Amino acid sequence: MTESKLPRLLVPPPGPEAQRVLALDHEYVSPSYTRAYPLVARKGRGAIIEDVDGNAFLDFAAGIAVVATGHCHPEVVAAIQEQAAQLIHMSGTDFYYANMAELAQKLALIAPGSEAKRVYFGNSGTEAVEAAIKLARHHTRREKIIAFYGAFHGRTMGALSLTASKAVQRRGFGSLLSGVFHVPYANPYRCPYGKQAESCCTECAPFLERELFKRLVDPSEVAAIVVEPIQGEGGYVPAPAEFLQDLQRICRAHGIMLISDEVQSGMGRTGKWWAGDYAGIEPDIICVAKSIASGLPLSATIARKSVMDWPAGAHASTFGGNPVCAAAALVTIKLIEEGYLENARRMGEYLMKYMEGWTSAFRIVGDVRGRGLMIGVEIVKDRATKERAHNLREAIREWVVDFGRRRECAPPLSATDDQ
Ligand code: PLP
Repeated sequence: MTESKLPRLLVPPPGPEAQRVLALDHEYVSPSYTRAYPLVARKGRGAIIEDVDGNAFLDFAAGIAVVATGHCHPEVVAAIQEQAAQLIHMSGTDFYYANMAELAQKLALIAPGSEAKRVYFGNSGTEAVEAAIKLARHHTRREKIIAFYGAFHGRTMGALSLTASKAVQRRGFGSLLSGVFHVPYANPYRCPYGKQAESCCTECAPFLERELFKRLVDPSEVAAIVVEPIQGEGGYVPAPAEFLQDLQRICRAHGIMLISDEVQSGMGRTGKWWAGDYAGIEPDIICVAKSIASGLPLSATIARKSVMDWPAGAHASTFGGNPVCAAAALVTIKLIEEGYLENARRMGEYLMKYMEGWTSAFRIVGDVRGRGLMIGVEIVKDRATKERAHNLREAIREWVVDFGRRRECAPPLSATDDQ
């Protein structure tokens, strides 16, 4: 699938076959999923996704930040096929196999910091976070955890206790983990303390020492601070380096584990292996998932060797580190090393340069921000008030599809379109 003009629309989506699938899906699949628009995928190659009616689109979201090597990279596909023909499952929880240990070694070497590392494998981002919470509590023998407003760490009960993104994600599920404290995240575009972008972050980390540790929780009871170095679901907000460095300093001062959730920002997507590398931090525990195996379900919780000191039986998973996923991950890492890391850096720079004028050219573009190929464009009603413009954002998405149908039409750039 090579296309120079995308989208390629053979029929207006959703086409007849897509409509058949949608009807079936709506009847039988859990309504809790958040499908924003009715794309019914059939085939993916590189950056292109084709739907069941033959329409083709550029996948700007890379399979929601998962296909770091593009859709169905031939080397990844070959590694999966080869491994599947050899051994699909044996359970690393109960037995040994080579590629699980080899992958752990590889991840341990890529992780920042001079201390040796150990790796726990799960199947999803939320499991990586769940393991990190349990490990931090087990290692420190402390219970409390600090997380941030805007954070998304997953949807299982432990990870959900840290998530503070949308109320619907928590509504109706009753009590979550106790002892979790949420504090403001340093967001230079929307500084929670009303400061300018340049001076944002001078308050957020000190707030912990000045307020939280004095009024609500003694730091000696805190097991971990959990932070996304770039908030993903929270709006693609790169944390200022000083903020992350301050958090590390506070953690070191009080024996608290710094857990960096790199589920979305990791594996080279930002042009460095870890988004935290931009701040030079060395977290005690790193959570990795999404793009680690180019689309196969795998996650890793990487910790300093002296931190991952729990005994046999303390934590495990039947499928975590499955041989087929591990094979895909090893090739994924090789491909990232060979070129995609550099590609993310270079293309990210190119894109940011291309878009740097948007905040003055378009009055609905409030901010363009990100690192590498993790870039967000914030759409607002008014640049001065920064009022959010959800309808405009939807209109832009509709326009992109419509554009494929009627290439001559113009984008909805006027804030008055936001009805
Ligand atoms: N952590 C972060 C930063 C995420 O972006 C996500 C998912 O979007 C998760 C954790 C949860 O990952 P999963 O959906 O694989 O459970």
